[in-house]
Amino acid sequence: MELSKRQEQIIEIVKGNGPITGEHIADQLNLTRATLRPDLAILTMSGFLDARPRVGYFFTGKNGSELLTEQIRKYKVHEFQQVPIAVKESVSVYDAISTMFLEDVGTLFVVDENSCLTGVLSRKDLLRASIGQKDLSSVPVHIIMTRMPNITVCRREDLLIDAAYKLITKQIDGLPVVKDTDAGLEIVGRITKTTMTRLLVELTTDEQI
Ligand code: ADP
Repeated sequence: MELSKRQEQIIEIVKGNGPITGEHIADQLNLTRATLRPDLAILTMSGFLDARPRVGYFFTGKNGSELLTEQIRKYKVHEFQQVPIAVKESVSVYDAISTMFLEDVGTLFVVDENSCLTGVLSRKDLLRASIGQKDLSSVPVHIIMTRMPNITVCRREDLLIDAAYKLITKQIDGLPVVKDTDAGLEIVGRITKTTMTRLLVELTTDEQI
């Protein structure tokens, strides 16, 4: 988060004089309390300053990168998950490749007749299956997919950073977000390396992309 010049000045004043009332900060800047109100609200909401009633503002001691780390550690999977793309186990390798292009994804999830997760197909899985294979329409994906129980999953309420850790340590591009049902794991979303890259860009530009 980018601070304005005035917000930087407020932090310096509070660092040197805190606890200090809004009134006194305003005096030092030759501004009115009302003019400062939005800046003080931003600085307390983002964690740089803390306010105690009848005492005033004081500096929390946290710098920008500590606050950013705290913020990232709070993100949950469901705040960032994207729509999952799934195919049935009986679908051919040919049709799975077409789906990957049409849906513009790099990982497909495979489901059984109850729409529960049974497998994962990556780009390389499909490439490997295509090499030297003449009739891709006759090979069903369940023959080549990575299958349960070897699938790494995450859940809506998991921390996003834990999902990121799984992507890195397992060296995979995507994770299905699953929900437990009596029939098995229902796929409700996906988290991919693109999810993480997008978050990085959003954090540094304050923009939703
Ligand atoms: P690529 O194979 O295109 O580099 P990945 O790195 O995602 O893409 O996949 C590597 C292997 O891991 C593939 O065989 C794929 O089936 C498998 N895989 C992908 N995602 C998962 C997952 N969530 N859980 C278990 N295995 C996975």
